Amino acid sequence: MSGTAAAGVVYEYTVSIDADLETMRVGARFAAPVDDVRARSGSAGRYLDGARDCDTDQSLGNRGRRLELPRAGVICVDYAIDLKRAAAAERRNASLSKDNIVVSPAVWLWRPPLAPDTRIIVHFELEEGIDVSVPWLPLAGRDSSYELLPSPRNARAMAAFGRFVNVRRELAGSELRIALLRPRGAMDSAAIVDWVHDTAGNVSLAYGRFPSPSPHVVVLPVGRGGWQSDSPVPFGRVLRDGGETVELFVDERRPIEDFYDDWTATHEFSHLMLPFVRSGHRWISEGFAQYYQNVLLTRAGQYDEQRAWQKLYDGFERGRNSRPELSPNEAARQGVGAATMKIYWSGAIIALMADVELRKRSSGRESLDSALGQLQHCCLPSARSWSGTELFEALDGFVDYPVFMPLYRKYADESGFPGFEAILESLGVTVRNGTVRLSNDAELAGIRRAITRTYLNIPHEPRF
Ligand SMILES: [Zn+2]
Repeated sequence: MSGTAAAGVVYEYTVSIDADLETMRVGARFAAPVDDVRARSGSAGRYLDGARDCDTDQSLGNRGRRLELPRAGVICVDYAIDLKRAAAAERRNASLSKDNIVVSPAVWLWRPPLAPDTRIIVHFELEEGIDVSVPWLPLAGRDSSYELLPSPRNARAMAAFGRFVNVRRELAGSELRIALLRPRGAMDSAAIVDWVHDTAGNVSLAYGRFPSPSPHVVVLPVGRGGWQSDSPVPFGRVLRDGGETVELFVDERRPIEDFYDDWTATHEFSHLMLPFVRSGHRWISEGFAQYYQNVLLTRAGQYDEQRAWQKLYDGFERGRNSRPELSPNEAARQGVGAATMKIYWSGAIIALMADVELRKRSSGRESLDSALGQLQHCCLPSARSWSGTELFEALDGFVDYPVFMPLYRKYADESGFPGFEAILESLGVTVRNGTVRLSNDAELAGIRRAITRTYLNIPHEPRF
């Protein structure tokens, strides 16, 4: 997907980078004088290598991450960034080949605060063979030009520069913009790009579309990288800052089959089915992703039904044993480190409860898939962060009878863990000595099979 520059006040940036990735030069042109220009990162001042008012040619100092401007303001600024030093300070670059780097725009994009009608357009002038990858919206008809999108800022966006795999891949009506950085050693780039595309495709098995029109995917090969996990994808997360980025750290030396069997990337892409949910209700975003990673990997044929329900059951047990004195809301407020399993799995059991209830009441016409499909049509990608109750109220608006807020009122502030034996049993999931058995004789066994079935029985368009 690409867009055209919208009306309103436009700030135009021209960014050039030398072929050795040592210096970045930036020219910023403002539509009217501005009296406040700053970078988001507190350490940005360390890498600023001279700035001047391009109208008067006066040199401009900086105080930390803020430029010292004349009282009348400035209409344009030229500045340089010591890109080499900024890259050296970014630990993501430790495992990369020297001819490609990642550096956050938080360090190099010095800009005025954005009013609702202001737009920032960034145009890159690149030397032969040098590429750039940013999360922003590519502008139609203008090579290497992007517009920053309004978005919540849950983390700092990453930008990649240099020689790396930079491809666009079509996916269920969306376009993935994949940056696969180059490690020092060998890597099967084509296989990893295919895996990213296929794994993102798992999410389109929820409602037939990918939830975001032009997501940015940054894949960082880190080897074992010092992560505790022996997963081929030891870490991933979603960054929302001027666009949506899924960031995946991978051990590029592992066989590609291991990547397909790993849940991390499916979990991260699943996050895009919800807007950014404030951290105090984080159990909703983590729990829905946790539920969907198991459902979607089964629909994709990677897990069989038995394995999916075993993983869900094991997770619910871990959730029940994690910080039973806390409610989901309290656990989310205390942070992930204090109560990870509580946060992730209390949200997942509530997602399962909502899904089963919707399917039961509507004889299969409604489901969590169909409610989230409507949410996508209405509201995604969202430019702002949402509270959990705002999200649940919106979801209730898409279904015939409210399901989400009743679950919220029952469980969000309750300590302990929602009872899950009865719902599992009704679905034909029984447990003996910790091992799950599936039975097709149970009352709701048909719903259980429908949850992990691959075909899409829901309308692609909203019903109203
Ligand atoms: Zn997550």
